[in-house]
Amino acid sequence: MLFGSISHWKRQLAEGAVTPAELVESLSAAMERENPALNAYLSWNRDAALRQAAQADLTKPLGGIPIAVKDNICIAGAPTRCASRMLENFVSPYDATAVEKLRAAGAILFGRTNMDEFAMGSAGENSAFGPTRNPADTERVPGGSSSGSAAAVAGGIAVAALGSDTGGSIRQPASHCGIVGMKPTYGRVSRYGLVAFASSLDQIGPLTQNVEDAALVLNAICGHDAKDSTSSTQPTEDFSSQLGHDIKGARIGLPKEYLSLGNDAAVTAAVDRAVKTLTDLGAEVEEISLPHAEAVVASYYIIACAEASSNLSRFDGVRYGHRTEIPGGLDELYSHTRAEGFGDEVKRRVILGTYVLSSGFYDAYYARAQKVRALVAKDFSDAFGKVDFILGPTTPTPAPKLFDADLTPLQTYLADIYTIPANLAGLPGISVPCQASEGLPTGVQLLAPHFRETALLSVAHALEQALR
Ligand code: GLN
Repeated sequence: MLFGSISHWKRQLAEGAVTPAELVESLSAAMERENPALNAYLSWNRDAALRQAAQADLTKPLGGIPIAVKDNICIAGAPTRCASRMLENFVSPYDATAVEKLRAAGAILFGRTNMDEFAMGSAGENSAFGPTRNPADTERVPGGSSSGSAAAVAGGIAVAALGSDTGGSIRQPASHCGIVGMKPTYGRVSRYGLVAFASSLDQIGPLTQNVEDAALVLNAICGHDAKDSTSSTQPTEDFSSQLGHDIKGARIGLPKEYLSLGNDAAVTAAVDRAVKTLTDLGAEVEEISLPHAEAVVASYYIIACAEASSNLSRFDGVRYGHRTEIPGGLDELYSHTRAEGFGDEVKRRVILGTYVLSSGFYDAYYARAQKVRALVAKDFSDAFGKVDFILGPTTPTPAPKLFDADLTPLQTYLADIYTIPANLAGLPGISVPCQASEGLPTGVQLLAPHFRETALLSVAHALEQALR
């Protein structure tokens, strides 16, 4: 049961049917009731939310709307732990730019959502504070790494949430939980205050109950930021402006490589359903090719781990976060602190990243991965010469069982095959729920050229509405 969308609560607030404080109270009650089963929130501060509610300006675009925020996006005065022991006692001294912008748009910051530690994972199982569960089936994972953001929205204990997407961490959990998740173009949303995992891939974006809400959140958080050197100067738009427009004549490419890689039958059926629906709406769906589709996972895991090994070197027990109590010299301080503070997956990636950057291996791994990245980007620019959008599965299978012992880390990495390309190429992508039969939630993914979010949201919205 969903809690009610942003547009729903905006209307209720505008009509005076509910006050911001009452909204916060009823959300808190729902959260306290449901969260123990889902473990979607790691921390929240009801009093702080009520203080913001008391000052809410309902004339603003998100006035009085509570928004949940992933645990790796800084909120001043709130724990920002990245679901890691390393940052267990860390309280952020400042707001991320995206958070500052949410505040400026009138939103109420409500709670910190669970995630895979430092955003490394696809199931939410790598959290140091216990796994999140999928509201559609609590024996299954909600996806990851934005596990808590997706489960909170889908489980009726958040209106909307922010997540981060480095290789699919917004779109994949959205797909597994049956909600909308969008990764904007790289550079659209400032990364200032997002704890870095792989800086050339990371992007903040919305997880919402519907496409309209995704546009509303995007409107609030986008824009140039001098505090992020990779922030784009591209002017922001009203991303809602084309919702409801006719999509007749839109050219949509279906990559043949995305259909032949051993997808689950439910996923194939979901894509078929999306193709039929979009065709009925007047779009022209044609087969295209992305020749380097099979190389993306290898390229991504080399680049992401390389960047992570560098970014995470700041957690050294000296400046902030956990510090070992075992006495010793500087080397022991580093090694004990990191051995105690990081979980297994983070260690695996730091080791892998250090290895691929080491002298003697750099050219064989890191430099080659960058070449593949350039080829993947070229595949897309070629494809977007022929079509306006690309459609495909978000994930090869629906949500797996929690702690499935048969899944090796490699198999889990391979399941990111459809979400990773947008990060490697910096493209915007959105996952829209599109279940074809009874069973688990399944999403389909739409991709667009850089900075074409307004058009992307328009097609996603048309699809969503036609599927109702
Ligand atoms: N599943 C991918 C990984 O583990 C993506 C994570 C993400 O987007 N943060 O790296």
